[in-house]
Amino acid sequence: MSKPDYYEVLGVSQDASQDEIKKAYRKAAMDNHPDQNPDDPEAEKKFKLAAEAYDVLKDPQKRKVYDQYGHEGLERGGGGGGRGRGGAAAGRGFGGIEDIFEQFGDIFGFDRRGGGRSQRGADVRYDLEIAFEDAAFGTTETLDIPTRSECDNCDGSGAKPGTSKTTCQTCDGRGQVQHSQGFFTLTSACPQCDGEGEMIPEKCAECGGEGVVQEEHEVEVEVPPGVDDGTRLRLRGEGQAGLSGASSGDLYVFLHVQPSETFERDGSDLHVNCEVSFVQAILGCKTDVPTLEGTEEVTIEPGTQHGDTVRLRNQGIQKVKGRGRGDLIVTVTIDIPTELSKEQRDLLKEYAEVSDISIEKGFFEKVKDSFS
Ligand SMILES: [Zn+2]
Ligand SMILES: [Zn+2]
Repeated sequence: MSKPDYYEVLGVSQDASQDEIKKAYRKAAMDNHPDQNPDDPEAEKKFKLAAEAYDVLKDPQKRKVYDQYGHEGLERGGGGGGRGRGGAAAGRGFGGIEDIFEQFGDIFGFDRRGGGRSQRGADVRYDLEIAFEDAAFGTTETLDIPTRSECDNCDGSGAKPGTSKTTCQTCDGRGQVQHSQGFFTLTSACPQCDGEGEMIPEKCAECGGEGVVQEEHEVEVEVPPGVDDGTRLRLRGEGQAGLSGASSGDLYVFLHVQPSETFERDGSDLHVNCEVSFVQAILGCKTDVPTLEGTEEVTIEPGTQHGDTVRLRNQGIQKVKGRGRGDLIVTVTIDIPTELSKEQRDLLKEYAEVSDISIEKGFFEKVKDSFS
């Protein structure tokens, strides 16, 4: 049975502050408190789950482990990147597929000496860059995920089918050899079998005796609408294959959302600038502003000031947790022309005259006048 996501349990986003988490937990605890919901097993379950989620998310250390490794990380009591399990993968920038290859040494916890052949597959991190619009509306991406899996041809033994491994003659299966050097006896790994103690007289042609083959497998990722830069998607069981029947690791897709040239994003709200002429600001007008879907006509009220905003409800980004969309906030900026024709200048002078606005005197004269 898989456990629900702790952030979902509390209904907060992955980058929620400690304060938000605390508030969300208090609410969940109050809503589902057994005293308020007698004989309601569903509420009791939610109540316990909220407490469990809060216990993890309130603790920055546990939260970090959970963010990186999910429930499994907590079960292992992992404090910082358990053995061979992606510790080095965390906190890296965009690197795409090469990054994963590079991490093989770290994240592919394949350890012959430890008899580690029957361990769970390693988790894999994949950094995926998506367009601003794809983050807003959601998208489906097909990723090629490198994976190592047990060689089918030799069932992971590394020996050619029909043959088997033999005990190394050089070290008699001990994996170590001893040299005498004067008074000393030195022990070192057997050069014949590399310390394995076993030899493969005829290697499997498919895997070259490794017992594992490297492949790529295609994973389709549903990117839900409303994701933001830094959102992490976990695809259970899509990481490295486990060997000898052990379960596969998870695939973590870290999203990098390209910025928009038009919009500034703030959670589920969007901001856009709309420049109007000072005349339009004074007299009011209708003008088109860009929206996610195209354009929308907005009304600039007479007397609009520089920096005033117009809010278009539900024209923002889909809320990932919760319903509906954010708003599109249009900030009006006022264009003051720097060059005027003679006609324009004359008209403005006329305006100044009828409005009793002095344009002949400088600022200091005006100040002096007002005190006289
Ligand atoms: Zn093989
Ligand atoms: Zn040997």
